[in-house]
Amino acid sequence: MTDANRSSEPSTRAQILSDPLSGREVIFAPARTKRPGNHEALREPAAADEAENCPFCEGREQETPPELFALGTEKGRAPDTPGWKVRVVPNLYPAFERQQVVVHTPTHTRSLADLSDEQLVLIAASWAEAAERAWAQGFDHLLAVINEGVAAGASRPHSHSQLVWLDRLPPEVATEAPRLRRDGCALCALLHDLDPALKLAERKLGDSTVSLAVAATGRAPYELLVAPDDHQPDAFGSGELLAAALALAAEGVRRLNAVEGASPFNLWLHNFQADGHWHLELVPRLNTYAAIELGGGIFINTLRPEEAATRLREASL
Ligand SMILES: [Zn+2]
Ligand SMILES: [Zn+2]
Ligand SMILES: [Zn+2]
Repeated sequence: MTDANRSSEPSTRAQILSDPLSGREVIFAPARTKRPGNHEALREPAAADEAENCPFCEGREQETPPELFALGTEKGRAPDTPGWKVRVVPNLYPAFERQQVVVHTPTHTRSLADLSDEQLVLIAASWAEAAERAWAQGFDHLLAVINEGVAAGASRPHSHSQLVWLDRLPPEVATEAPRLRRDGCALCALLHDLDPALKLAERKLGDSTVSLAVAATGRAPYELLVAPDDHQPDAFGSGELLAAALALAAEGVRRLNAVEGASPFNLWLHNFQADGHWHLELVPRLNTYAAIELGGGIFINTLRPEEAATRLREASL
């Protein structure tokens, strides 16, 4: 295309940004008249008999495959009986050689946002326990994810996470790994230079701080990032830092729900066994991805991060 042709185009093109962790391209194109949430995208309301038929609730242990382990158990408890706080079972319909479900709580609870800090500590401990077992069996990566809401691909409304054991880094993690090496880590730089307007909360544990922030180059409205400020590859060996990160993610969901209504989301841990900088990414599923995103790999985000952060910070919890 010649310059002459180009100049006849309307000159309203938005700037294309590059996400420093992944290299993903993002364009912020605020739609003035439309809020990012829409009614269909919100979480489905609870069915009347939902809890009565839920195989993850305490007392229905026989309705899942036999458990691998449980945490917070009562003394003398037999496997697959009541008296647990977190329960890890094989996925009934696995897509991978090893794929597990972590049931987050014995009582019927629909969201990470509604779990106590004590419960989140046990969930983080269950992820760490599964990671130890995976490493002992020669696996190289544990992909820990949470889907909430039908629009986000969740098959059960009872709060749970999924753990996938892999014998290699999944492509998204492999893409990030060279960008997150100790020398010149893009996430260390991002957190060091973080615009205070994007930061929502932090938790301090000993010498470490974990931060919750709106992603500056998020692919979706209200996309959130949770990470330790100092360079740490392995969340599973981080003691209670992972639990603190989950607690911050839960706070992010509470703020999001206060602004937009009960929102479906995907959350995952990007972890690095060798060098890297672990973090949680939380992607609300209020919008639908279309061909420019899926076919072009260019994400159009209708809500600027500063505006998202203002709304989330001012949400009344
Ligand atoms: Zn349940
Ligand atoms: Zn780093
Ligand atoms: Zn990541």
